[in-house]
Amino acid sequence: MPDDSPIRVAVIGSGPAGFYAAGHLLKDSAGRVEVDMLERLPTPWGLVRSGVAPDHPKIKSVSRVYEKTAEHPRFRFFGNVCFGEDISREDLLAHYHAIVYATGSAIDRPLGIPGEELPGSHAATDFVGWYNGHPDQADLEVDLLSAERALVIGNGNVALDLGRMLVLNSSELATTDTADHALEVLARSRVREVVIVGRRGPAQAAFTNPELRELGELSEADVVVDPSELERGLAVPDPSLKDNAIARQNVEILRRYSERAVAGKPRRIAMRFLLSPVRLIPDEAGRVGAVELVRNELVPDEKGTLRARPTAARETIDAGLVFRAIGYRGLPLPGVPFDERQGVIPNDGGRVTDPSTGVTRPGEYVVGWIKRGPTGVIGTNKRDAQQTVDAILADLAERRNGSGGELSPDSPDAASVERLLIARKPDLVPYDGWLEIDRHERVHGERQGRPRVKLTRIDEMLRIAAAESPDPEE
Ligand SMILES: Cc1cc2nc3c(=O)[nH]c(=O)nc-3n(C[C@H](O)[C@H](O)[C@H](O)COP(=O)(O)OP(=O)(O)OC[C@H]3O[C@@H](n4cnc5c(N)ncnc54)[C@H](O)[C@@H]3O)c2cc1C
Repeated sequence: MPDDSPIRVAVIGSGPAGFYAAGHLLKDSAGRVEVDMLERLPTPWGLVRSGVAPDHPKIKSVSRVYEKTAEHPRFRFFGNVCFGEDISREDLLAHYHAIVYATGSAIDRPLGIPGEELPGSHAATDFVGWYNGHPDQADLEVDLLSAERALVIGNGNVALDLGRMLVLNSSELATTDTADHALEVLARSRVREVVIVGRRGPAQAAFTNPELRELGELSEADVVVDPSELERGLAVPDPSLKDNAIARQNVEILRRYSERAVAGKPRRIAMRFLLSPVRLIPDEAGRVGAVELVRNELVPDEKGTLRARPTAARETIDAGLVFRAIGYRGLPLPGVPFDERQGVIPNDGGRVTDPSTGVTRPGEYVVGWIKRGPTGVIGTNKRDAQQTVDAILADLAERRNGSGGELSPDSPDAASVERLLIARKPDLVPYDGWLEIDRHERVHGERQGRPRVKLTRIDEMLRIAAAESPDPEE
């Protein structure tokens, strides 16, 4: 291959990790790299669109950075193309010098307890996708009319997002891009109390400080922490606290909540600790009616990390809704190694490895949550993508010296893969198609004083993307 011929890279997935990887590749490669991004939805941005809470528009506006990357002349977007269904690893190996998997962590971790499948028990992934208008959850039924109390299991930011979304009032939600179907149900919600439950203590919670502080500023809900439970949770000193300023600050915020007088707002969020659910109990209609929990104590493991150990004490909390927010995990991709235990693609600093031998697979790379698991904030994916891109560029440089680990595709030209993709998926959505969807959503949003009104059905998105029948109202 002559040295100045383009290096063609396929990025699978258009969330933050995929976009940071694309951005770094285009910036750092001295003009030789071309990036094609394949996304299974007609819309880009991954969890920035379908995970980040609608009442956090500033965080969602990080997509402007990705828009800049998407405008790059050596970047192409192919939406509505699912890796593993519409296009295989083998297809891509024939067309690209490198493949970067950036497919995120799409499913929830189950609790593994009886009653988990009862109506009224939901995965955070589903509820979050539902209020954010993800097409996979457009038909989810969330009954917010039958329950006055909801239990959220988990002590990370996703649990806080869920709790907040359940207590915001309809005028606060009305200015957001919450999906219309969810706005309607949330406006009629009878949920008055949300109990957020952590299996360990306040010092081990994975909240970040601004998100925890925000709970105390809600207009419609008091935040309640039982001082004696808080102190019980802090009774065993955690040695990791001295190096963890975020956790120390969390403890301070929670302590302030525990000392605060209840203002008597119409709703409340109760933060509970040292409790693990053991069973969801049905009511007479066969829906979730209550949750039995075991009280835990904290004990250090051999490394000194405080773990939750169940005691003999149990507690039952009546709750007609249960949301499990105990972590996300990735889905395996056909033909790509997968670590079932961690729910990630095994890798060495971003180079995909064969799990049985530990040997790297030439030309295959991974970024984001599917690389390191569902941890960190959006910005974490930027650094993480840089590590992978450095590995790609180092491998390409070695290749030029005759020893590198890049692929030798049969048909590396941009036109041939585009022909293949169109043949496989005639209704694929190019970036211009997404811009049509974006414009449509924003125009409708503007009329209602909202950032956008989301389309939540794939067929609607495809119709707008193809600009086939202009909206008569526009
Ligand atoms: C509920 C929730 C709220 C969050 N809120 C915040 C927040 O407020 N602030 C913050 O900093 N971070 C937040 N995060 C974390 C942040 O969203 C993640 O760090 C980030 O989205 C991970 O990026 P990713 O690209 O690895 O995965 P994702 O964002 O999940 O992107 C993966 C993309 O790959 C696509 N894909 C999957 N499979 C295929 C396939 N087979 N073929 C083609 N495409 C595929 C998906 O459709 C998706 O677009 C939140 C996370 C969650 C779950």
